[in-house]
Amino acid sequence: MERARTPTPVEELTQIGGHRCLDLANTLVAAEPPRDSLTGIEDFRAWASRAGIAVEPSSDPGSDAAALRRVRALRDAIRAIAASTVAGRPCPPEAAEALTEAAARSFRSRRLGPKPGGIGWHRVRRDLDSATDLLAMEAAALFADADGLRLKRCSGAHCGWFFIDRSRNGSRRWCSMADCGNRTKARRHRARQRAEE
Ligand SMILES: [Zn+2]
Repeated sequence: MERARTPTPVEELTQIGGHRCLDLANTLVAAEPPRDSLTGIEDFRAWASRAGIAVEPSSDPGSDAAALRRVRALRDAIRAIAASTVAGRPCPPEAAEALTEAAARSFRSRRLGPKPGGIGWHRVRRDLDSATDLLAMEAAALFADADGLRLKRCSGAHCGWFFIDRSRNGSRRWCSMADCGNRTKARRHRARQRAEE
């Protein structure tokens, strides 16, 4: 079965990126037309909850709309950086700039404070923007501070999801073997059969 041509509802998205910043990137599939699982702010709220980021309810539609724009902009930057990383190219300067700005803004949502054994980050806000702030900080750490990051992109048709390959021999090619892996094998199998007919 082909992956549906409509966006996958957030509740049904599998989180296979190995890092929630990549799972955020994978809420958009760059097909034609693009399929965006974050169709509204409630989708982002549900996504954040599934990703383990607590968000308090809000009652301001204006700030909700701005929050959706911000997380989509962060997602665009993450996708551009991930795509260039996979391709072994330098990242587009505007994406680096966007992530810098987003990571700098994240300080409004966190403070360093004591924790057992030393010091750590504490979230000081719980609104939607603070979820985006947290993701921006984590994305900067993932891309800029992680050495030897085995970032890959699924080879499945109409997929292109990003993931961290943690397989021992670095041979992972699919977002999931059960999904794109099997489908691609089935497609090859059908093509072989047709060729032999
Ligand atoms: Zn895939």
